[in-house]
Amino acid sequence: MTRALFIIDVQNDFTEGGALGVEGGAAVAAGVTDYLGAHRDDYAVVVASRDWHDADNDNGGHFATDADPDFVDTWPSHCIAGTPGAEYHPALDVSGVDVHIRKGQGIPAYSIFEGTDDAGATITEVLTSHGITDVDIVGLATDYCVRASALDALEHGQHVRVLTDLVAGVAAQTSADALAELGHAGAVIAESGADTGAAGETGADAGADREADAGTAGDDEGAR
Ligand SMILES: [Zn+2]
Repeated sequence: MTRALFIIDVQNDFTEGGALGVEGGAAVAAGVTDYLGAHRDDYAVVVASRDWHDADNDNGGHFATDADPDFVDTWPSHCIAGTPGAEYHPALDVSGVDVHIRKGQGIPAYSIFEGTDDAGATITEVLTSHGITDVDIVGLATDYCVRASALDALEHGQHVRVLTDLVAGVAAQTSADALAELGHAGAVIAESGADTGAAGETGADAGADREADAGTAGDDEGAR
């Protein structure tokens, strides 16, 4: 297995005091820093994303302009490119980050797969170039950008783990729903303290079992 870590949107506007502050966001920033200090060598590549919106437009309807934000599809203005709100939270040590992704320039972009690095490379290109088979995901917010990034990573064929003590969400119910949905979709939902190797193997085995089951079911269909 070759593993990548995605650190999703640990930015000032998504942490306490920010335009769209998530309760527990600052603790996630500090927790990810501690985790990276102990586990940087577990990862072939560490990727961090930032929501990075235009200042002079509503970013494809992402910012509420004529009505109050619904906090589902429309949001208060946040993470304007180049402003303090768009910067990484100061408690997040990015010295161990290899690739910085920006997303959301002029459009709503919840998934890290919708962004590019400074050279224009996509996440798919980064994963392929490093031969990545497994992705761990941490960051903000559980119910939006973490969810969307994890679903896209699964779609990409990765074995995905969401580290539950290193994420925080906009609301408790939608966050619980998102983790349940991701678990159902094939992600391993685990705390960062869980044995990474064993958890990874479990995820891989579970995937293989599902494929084997699917194959068996197909054979049964053919035999009938
Ligand atoms: Zn946004």
